Amino acid sequence: MLEPGATIGILGGGQLGRMLALAAARLGLKCHIYAPAGDNPAFDVAARHTVGAYDDEAALAAFAREVEVVTYEFENVPARAAAVLGSLRPVYPDARALETTQDRLVEKDFVRALGIETAPYVAVDDAGSLARAVAALGRPSILKTRRFGYDGKGQATIRGGADLGGVFRALGSQPCILEGLVPFRREVSVVAARGADGAFAAWDVCENEHEQHILARTVAPARLSEATAAAAIEIAHRLADALAYVGVIAVEMFLVEERGAERLVVNELAPRVHNSGHWTMDGAATSQFEQHIRAVAGWPLGSTRRIGRCEMTNLIGEQAAQWREIAADPGARLHLYGKAEIRAGRKMGHVNRVELE
Ligand code: AMP
Repeated sequence: MLEPGATIGILGGGQLGRMLALAAARLGLKCHIYAPAGDNPAFDVAARHTVGAYDDEAALAAFAREVEVVTYEFENVPARAAAVLGSLRPVYPDARALETTQDRLVEKDFVRALGIETAPYVAVDDAGSLARAVAALGRPSILKTRRFGYDGKGQATIRGGADLGGVFRALGSQPCILEGLVPFRREVSVVAARGADGAFAAWDVCENEHEQHILARTVAPARLSEATAAAAIEIAHRLADALAYVGVIAVEMFLVEERGAERLVVNELAPRVHNSGHWTMDGAATSQFEQHIRAVAGWPLGSTRRIGRCEMTNLIGEQAAQWREIAADPGARLHLYGKAEIRAGRKMGHVNRVELE
């Protein structure tokens, strides 16, 4: 168990690292952020930072020696970087969680092996296997790169008449999976945490709306039956246990309604704090950021009790220019990420609103 004053290393300098560092500071813990050169808003709020590339093994090793435990704010940490760090310090979540969630095929195989439903999928390694996969899954279907996809990047919908070779080339002619389209009613997610001792705590299931593939709004609690909500949390619990996971995990799911019955289909896992958990900063007894810090520091998990009906709205690109009006709204809790430059599609901040029940 880390004592106050100890230092947690975080790979990645974006808004998630920033909010982790703020939560850690509140508990008397320090953060040392490691990130490549660029706009790193986490640097502004952390005790220390190192600018370094994720393949600079000497810099990674020097960073590891200065911290007690290492975590990260995104899952695309190169496996080699995780191995270098892992040889020197505990890394949470560990290499297995990273390997499983970095690759959509490995991830789906893992979820399926636990008997948990996913979209139908087929591995696609070249244009020829894409044609066979489309014949098997039908159209429309969605082609996704196995690695490095986020916010809809690395994805293409295949409709009637699509030039399959062209679509495969447009995604970089790299290993992909083709997914059948899930006719979902809504998208929901479970954000939860597991401690090294196996303790598990989930927040209430929340409901997510995307615009142009980017999360626009999250509402908690989600509109779904109590039994389905319990089943969603049970799925997250089983996934976290199967990975012997330590930290906050997010499980994105599709809620399907068929003949009046609800069904859950897992879309993807995020081995980190997640945008759909930002409502917990103002709407729950413990925020996802504090919880992640608690888990990696070996502290007991905090209460996930929700304190009202919560709505989180992302401020994307120019929407951040509304900060004055939002700051003047007594019902709004404004979070700005301190990014140097507004760009289209860039997450600049978010607003939480909590209605006490
Ligand atoms: P992902 O990057 O896998 O989270 O996908 C981004 C978004 O695309 C999801 O949040 C869904 O809105 C949509 N999507 C992805 N996969 C599927 C699928 N198999 N069926 C239906 N919609 C999907």
